Amino acid sequence: MKQNRRQFIRSSALATMALATPLFPAIASVKKLSKISTDKMKLSWTPYDLQLNHTFTISGFSRTTTPIILTKIEYDGLEGYGEASLPPYLGETQASVIEFLKKVDLSAFTPYGHIEEIMSYVDGIAVGNTAAKAAVDIALHDLVGKIEGAPWYKIRGLDKYDVPDTTFTIGIDTDEVVREKTREALGRFNILKVKVGGPDDKRMIEAIRSETDLPLAVDANQGWKDRRQALDMIFWMKERGVVMVEQPMPKQDLDNIARLTEESPLPVFADESIQRLSDVERLKGVFSGINIKLMKCTGMLEAWKMRKLAYSLGMKVMIGCMTETSCAISAASQLYSGMDFADLDGALLIGNDCFDGAKLENGKIIPSDQPGIGVKLSGDLRFSRKG
Ligand code: MG
Repeated sequence: MKQNRRQFIRSSALATMALATPLFPAIASVKKLSKISTDKMKLSWTPYDLQLNHTFTISGFSRTTTPIILTKIEYDGLEGYGEASLPPYLGETQASVIEFLKKVDLSAFTPYGHIEEIMSYVDGIAVGNTAAKAAVDIALHDLVGKIEGAPWYKIRGLDKYDVPDTTFTIGIDTDEVVREKTREALGRFNILKVKVGGPDDKRMIEAIRSETDLPLAVDANQGWKDRRQALDMIFWMKERGVVMVEQPMPKQDLDNIARLTEESPLPVFADESIQRLSDVERLKGVFSGINIKLMKCTGMLEAWKMRKLAYSLGMKVMIGCMTETSCAISAASQLYSGMDFADLDGALLIGNDCFDGAKLENGKIIPSDQPGIGVKLSGDLRFSRKG
């Protein structure tokens, strides 16, 4: 009975949705039915702390844990999971996410075919709070995919194997640690990402080159302050097998970044300079491409729109992440088929992942074939609507 009712809900919503939105391009036509489920969506959450395998240092910050909030939306016997990852430099906390989630009332909505409408409501609750919004968006996508009975890469009509190799990130550290992390990556990854913008970038690159010839991506995290020096460094790095550069200079220094990009022999990607869909257009001609992160752009719906807009503007696109469980990483893995670069090692850098989902295969993060975002909760966590 349950199954019949679910198919019924799905068919009726699909009919409305196929007309209203291009969200489900893989679905051709369905019969329109008149009734939908009267069940109400219930949102709950739980705080969780990720333990990093290594102390992580980027230009200006160092840490060993990342706080997160996991979310769950229950509806019609199904559960959709989501996540807000909260690295301290982005400004959201477990308390601020909980405060935001308490304001989210999904009882007036039905999920299927209404992601756009629901996320428009969620986005309008308060400015900012992008990770909190992403936690709702991801759980909603997981739920809707489960109602549909398909993973999102299939719903989007994507090939899950047509994805770029994921980078494995090496933070700013001593030669010894850098070499150890490089050895840890060998045989598992086909490209490494090096955090630069510290006092001795050339030494970092040379330490890695003493271990491997794998291609390298570099992320300066705004750490290079002078355009001429940045350009010299990029030319030096290109000679040593670096293939792309992320956020070379301070995020607001767009004039210098535009000139740097024009002269750079390597593609230059925006990370700190970009947050949401509304930022994409003004970065055309400034950067070669953009780094899309679910936690900064409110989740999968807006990430998909950013991807489409950037490609339509002739820009390159990569997908990035925070330190996250396999929940948020699996969500990202559902929409990066065909992208230029990927940095989806977030769940591989932690020791207490509580989800089973997308997996590293031959250097690529491949989503599972489970419906929704393709995850199973493996920990014993209690979700509630309390602080
Ligand atoms: Mg970055």
